[in-house]
Amino acid sequence: MPLIMVTGFPTSGKSTRAKQLYSYLDDRIKDTSNGAAPKYRLHLISDQTLSISRSVYDLSALPAHTRSANASEKDARATIYGAVKRVLSDKDIVILDGLNYIKGWRYQLHCESKAVRTPSCLLQIGCPTDKAKEVNQERLRKQQEAETAGQDPIQSSQDDESEAPYAPENWENLVFRYEEPNAMTRWDSPLFTLLWDDDEEQTKQTFDSLWDAVAGEGRKIVKPNQ
Ligand code: ADP
Repeated sequence: MPLIMVTGFPTSGKSTRAKQLYSYLDDRIKDTSNGAAPKYRLHLISDQTLSISRSVYDLSALPAHTRSANASEKDARATIYGAVKRVLSDKDIVILDGLNYIKGWRYQLHCESKAVRTPSCLLQIGCPTDKAKEVNQERLRKQQEAETAGQDPIQSSQDDESEAPYAPENWENLVFRYEEPNAMTRWDSPLFTLLWDDDEEQTKQTFDSLWDAVAGEGRKIVKPNQ
């Protein structure tokens, strides 16, 4: 079953929306009111579930000529790829919560899902840069407070990596490197968008359309040569 790639700026609300989507899909899968057994298994994969730190995306510590070969980010991508590949099948819905900001990477994942004859789609989290930056700055402030209070910052960020801030330069750089999805390409479509201000009803409508495209009536039959 399908691969749902979540994408967006750092601290734009991706994990929040991914968890909402997980809960929505969980309810739909478990809805056996028609007497049928659940058809799908559901998986949520993210940097947090794989214990990948924010710092793997940080290029600021590297000399300019080695940036394109940032090994830590490549290793992280290999880990994520392996985790997706292990579970993706016609019977498994995989939500991949992450930056997913490189179009070549999204293309690679799209091909992987095609190889197991299951659809892929993109859920873009639309959030103004100012808002996303504010969230990161608030997290940096909290981290600093914790340090001042004598707490071990490494330990506290390990306790909840999803709340860990990005270093300011790392954050700016990721926004700069972000490759906007293009719904005209096969690997970025179908493309669904949720905005920061989308309320519960709007969010449900988007999730309904997403479900229809990847699991419902509107689901496209995936042929390997498409
Ligand atoms: P990301 O996964 O992109 O780093 P998170 O999902 O962790 O971002 O969200 C960052 C913060 O913003 C969290 O504190 C979360 O509660 C808050 N948040 C996320 N989305 C929304 C939203 N749509 N409206 C209000 N607050 C939100």
